[in-house]
Amino acid sequence: MTAGTVRIREVGPRDGFQNEPEVIPTDAKVDLIGRLARTGLKRIEVTSFVRADVIPQLADGPEVLARVDVPGDVSLSVLIPNERGLDNALAQRERFHEVNVFLSASESHNSKNVNRSIDESLSGLETVLGRARAEGLRCEGVISVAFGCPYEGVVEPAKVFEIAARLVAAGAQEIGFGDTTGMANPAQVREFFPAARAALGDGIELTAHFHNTRGQGLANVFAAWEAGVDSFETSFGELGGCPVPKGATGNVATEDVISMLHEMGVQTGVDLPALIDASRAVQTVLGRPLGSHTLVAGPVVWN
Ligand code: ZN
Repeated sequence: MTAGTVRIREVGPRDGFQNEPEVIPTDAKVDLIGRLARTGLKRIEVTSFVRADVIPQLADGPEVLARVDVPGDVSLSVLIPNERGLDNALAQRERFHEVNVFLSASESHNSKNVNRSIDESLSGLETVLGRARAEGLRCEGVISVAFGCPYEGVVEPAKVFEIAARLVAAGAQEIGFGDTTGMANPAQVREFFPAARAALGDGIELTAHFHNTRGQGLANVFAAWEAGVDSFETSFGELGGCPVPKGATGNVATEDVISMLHEMGVQTGVDLPALIDASRAVQTVLGRPLGSHTLVAGPVVWN
């Protein structure tokens, strides 16, 4: 039984490590990324080129990028906040394949996150995207709080698609829609993605990025998949979270998503037991239990 194929981008080494309270040692990051890259995952977000004083958890980004050892068919991406970050990343141009740029769909969240208006962010990111494409890099634009904002509440999809269209016009080949604080519900998701497809056309990869803040991550993945989405961003061990609301859990766990998809007959190319081993390894590094269900229960066994 097969029901199609889904692409997974593992974002734990960036989105996860950035939002855990501990700073994970560089050696451990390099080891964990190497493990992830040997599970069959073909896309991994390895780090961010933000200022070290802003995100101390990722201050070793350049060193991690320089040292990771991954098979040649694994595509590595880095998160780029601005032109300065792009300049720094391009010093290691041969070490990665994709860049992710980001902004928020609401003015309040964008202002709190990067201290800019949405329009100011877009102007800067348009330059970054143009330069990154000229370097032959694949480009993703990630829109945070795309399904709801903790400060402003409802975020109109039309506003989200308007931002997405500007990113596409500037060179983004993929748009990631982030449910950064876990406000999305499956009914909303089911309507959102067909509307996004209609607004952005067929040529753009649409990627869903859900957080499990209120336990609805898997339900939202399923709703998006039913609505035709075949690209997801997830985090091993359910690493990550968001400063708002405080203590909220992280991205939906990669192993939970993959277990569900495989049980549904959807292929991901990922070796689930190997992925669980990687999550167990990061759990050991952190020294505390993580939120992932499949990490606790193991894969479904039918015989
Ligand atoms: Zn996330």
